[in-house]
Amino acid sequence: MAMVQCAWCGGTGIDDVKLSSPCNVCYGDGYINVPDPPTKCGRCNGTGKIKDGFTREAGKCSGCGGSGWAS
Ligand SMILES: [Zn+2]
Ligand SMILES: [Zn+2]
Repeated sequence: MAMVQCAWCGGTGIDDVKLSSPCNVCYGDGYINVPDPPTKCGRCNGTGKIKDGFTREAGKCSGCGGSGWAS
């Protein structure tokens, strides 16, 4: 396993969308454990976010759940 930065909160542990609430991707740690070697999620290209083409709001990537990493 490897420790990688949570893409959803950028390692802050704070939810980027609901400011001041703990990130529910990494549970406030800012980092998550992924299998070694870490592989970026191909669907969101490691950003953890997918922009909804309809609402234009950034939502959590369905491929990685918002972490930005393939698990
Ligand atoms: Zn996070
Ligand atoms: Zn993804």
